[in-house]
Amino acid sequence: MVVVDLVTIEIILFFICLLLSGFFSSSEVALISITRAKVHALLSQGRKGAEALDILKRSTDTVLITILIGNNIANIAAASLATAIAIGIYGDVGIGIATGVTVILMLIFGEIGPKMYASRHIEELALRVSRPILYFSKAIYPVLWISDHIKQQFAFRPGVAEQVVTEEEIKEWIDVGEEEGTIEEQEREMLYSVLRFGDTTVREVMTPRVDVIMIGDTSTLENALSIFNETGFSRIPVYHEQIDNVIGLLNVKDIFAAAFRQQMDVTIKELMYEPCFVPESKKIDELLKELQVKKQHMAVVLDEYGSFAGIVTVEDMLEELVGEIMDEFDEEEPEVQQIEEGVYLVDARAWVGHLNKNLNLDLPLTDSYETLGGLVIDRLGYIPRRGEVAKIEESNIELIVMQMRGRRIVKVKMITTGEDEPGGSG
Ligand SMILES: [Mg+2]
Repeated sequence: MVVVDLVTIEIILFFICLLLSGFFSSSEVALISITRAKVHALLSQGRKGAEALDILKRSTDTVLITILIGNNIANIAAASLATAIAIGIYGDVGIGIATGVTVILMLIFGEIGPKMYASRHIEELALRVSRPILYFSKAIYPVLWISDHIKQQFAFRPGVAEQVVTEEEIKEWIDVGEEEGTIEEQEREMLYSVLRFGDTTVREVMTPRVDVIMIGDTSTLENALSIFNETGFSRIPVYHEQIDNVIGLLNVKDIFAAAFRQQMDVTIKELMYEPCFVPESKKIDELLKELQVKKQHMAVVLDEYGSFAGIVTVEDMLEELVGEIMDEFDEEEPEVQQIEEGVYLVDARAWVGHLNKNLNLDLPLTDSYETLGGLVIDRLGYIPRRGEVAKIEESNIELIVMQMRGRRIVKVKMITTGEDEPGGSG
């Protein structure tokens, strides 16, 4: 028979309490950190412990209270045991020694260490501790029952502020995924543009009124034919008396059909159709769905006063999505393309500072813009139309707007006319 004295038992119990404290603290981190989505995945993989994990994840409060109780019992028991041991050995000074030793050991082995470990092994730890924690929560059910009733008394309504996953979180996951290599950069850009899509308003993608070719409702069929012929558009807004007052859309097919039938005396009013009128602030994801249901391709945008503000097409909206993706794939396309000596086609998003440096130019830089498109707007004082020219006289440079998308300048032709021959070739 081995005779074990009381102090040895106490020391063994002390370390068991320390271990238990570590167990509860690491469980806390693992069970709280693991996401519902991850649990869902583990459950469908049929991983051991996943079912218990699923039950626990449905009630975060239960998990927290269970772990709090377990951790506190372990910590207090460890402190009591340490005090008893220390007093037994050192007498009254033992209290101070026990306190110091317990605090240090408890912090390292009962709290910080386990929590650090758990934060690095969330998944495996969560699976491993889920069943013990679930059983323990059943064992302390009376305590949980009381806390539940207190909670109801204070009318803590669960689930009110509980949003399972926010858009910001999804973006963070995408970023983390890209950093860790599970998502490629292009995929990240696509996912981002999908998320952005829902926040984009019609105002941001529409073609503004100044850029819209229109036709009066009293125009002739011949007139309409020539407009369609010149512009190549397939739909044109129809106004009544003044251009603020758009009353319909005219489809090129209807014009051709009428022309084919030789109905030269038919009026535009008879051929046009009732469009969708939408406010500038409408979200494009909603509008896209609406137009799909109505089988329409173009909507008429009205400003807050109900005046004609512009038009928006299904293509405009899809470009917001696909265009961004295309930009990513088109990375090869340079910001600056030299067309001929001293003539460049430049992406309007190019930074003026970079252009100056790379092409040896002296375009003016102020605080009010950074990009070439910004410089054009700053000089003109308004959103330009295609073909408009901003002359930067002090630099002997002409900037011609080549392409617009909505209110955004896309491409600018830059002609350096000065006696200073620009160096470099972009
Ligand atoms: Mg602990």
